[in-house]
Amino acid sequence: MKLTTNSLLRGFLFGTLVWCHTHANAQKPEPLETPLLEKAYTHFKESQLTERRFGYDKIAPLIESRSTVFEQQVLGKSVEGRPLNALTYGTGPTRVLLWSQMHGDESTATMALFDLFNFLEGSGEDDFAAIRKVLQEKLTIRFIPMVNPDGAERFQRRNALHIDLNRDAIRQSSPEAIILKAARDDFEPEFGFNLHDQNAYYNASGTSNPATISVLAPAYNEAREVNEGREKAMKVIVGMNRVLQEEIPGNVGKYNDTFEPRAFGDNFQKWGTSTILIESGAYPNDPEKQYIRKLNFMIILNALYEIATGIYAELEASAYQAIPDNASRLMDLLIKNVRSEINGYRYVTDIGIRRRVRYQEGIRYEQGEVADWGDLSIYYGYEELYAEGMTVTKGNVCEQETAIADLSREEVLDLLREGYLAIKTSETNKGMVHDLPILIVTGEQLPDLEPSLSNAPNFLLEKDGEYLYAVVNGNLIDLQSPGNKSFKQRVQ
Ligand SMILES: [Zn+2]
Repeated sequence: MKLTTNSLLRGFLFGTLVWCHTHANAQKPEPLETPLLEKAYTHFKESQLTERRFGYDKIAPLIESRSTVFEQQVLGKSVEGRPLNALTYGTGPTRVLLWSQMHGDESTATMALFDLFNFLEGSGEDDFAAIRKVLQEKLTIRFIPMVNPDGAERFQRRNALHIDLNRDAIRQSSPEAIILKAARDDFEPEFGFNLHDQNAYYNASGTSNPATISVLAPAYNEAREVNEGREKAMKVIVGMNRVLQEEIPGNVGKYNDTFEPRAFGDNFQKWGTSTILIESGAYPNDPEKQYIRKLNFMIILNALYEIATGIYAELEASAYQAIPDNASRLMDLLIKNVRSEINGYRYVTDIGIRRRVRYQEGIRYEQGEVADWGDLSIYYGYEELYAEGMTVTKGNVCEQETAIADLSREEVLDLLREGYLAIKTSETNKGMVHDLPILIVTGEQLPDLEPSLSNAPNFLLEKDGEYLYAVVNGNLIDLQSPGNKSFKQRVQ
């Protein structure tokens, strides 16, 4: 019997929960169907969390207001005194520990955990009651959301002591690392979920697909042997990958399993907890990672269900090995086969550009960089331009001082078509974030617009005396049909 919505409803109509029914007949429980997991997300998504960047203040009320289905505990405080909370659900014999955001700028799974809290608190009479009942009876689940609240406050990887908590599992120099280790020793979980984000440039090896989700059953020793505990983690991952391949076929990678003796995941595995790493990567047109948050919710709920029912144990660990490895071969923009001329020497090159996300007083903007220059035929781009016959060309600075408010997008595009890449502003608002597709400079220090590996990616692509494309702060603008593409950058 499949646990579809209909079968669950039928279960209620006949006054019997599906799980009890299945259990009574000693039938094997069936895996959850993907549409049901999607439906659960739609119902229980936490509406207070909408963007990747948030601090402890944002989650504090969401923890305080939890119902009594959770037992709550403050495990300790961060360097700057922010609480690390544990929320415990269920009374079953199998203990599962999930912890998120030990790197402060890796918040995707934290959002998904709050969605999951809403799900677990859901009404006893909805479509998902049978699932909750299994989780509640078979598992004791302990969640530690946001292990690094001081890092989250600054949206940075490390904690307030400049320590990478995921390199502090053994030395224990940080209060947050001490708390996480103590939580493990106190709870002794059979399963552990170590929840992280990875950068946007990982792809599934051999393909141009971003590794939207990467998984790993970390090694517990240098030889990367597989013992019973690690194999159990691999099997749980195989169940998660079934869901992922239905949602994002080909966008799953297997994280490198080199043993890292200082990391928590590897040590949890060594300490006897079957540990699963989830790394949330990127998905096209999902800058706030809200779709990836949904995927996290779906695969975590699926994994908990398969642990609770024992479904995972029937899966083949060899299917884990078949997941493609992570590679790091993606660029935001890849310009191929463009002509360049330096010191009178003409040659053909590719230019790989990446754009870093930064924040200015909470406002998101991008900062482009030339990541590589040369034969980049082994790389892929989220956006690619085959620039055969075009020449990468230096742009000019328009010295006529202008107020930003007086500049229209059309005027700016005309300036680009005339070969200008930067314009002086008459104002002194250096650092202000704007969304015009041209560099705006205050004039104190003019930008170096020479196209090069070491300069920011600002140049024009010329063919037969005409500028066909502009690259501004790493963003490609088609000067013949520019569309509505917009991006944010800072006044320099
Ligand atoms: Zn991380």
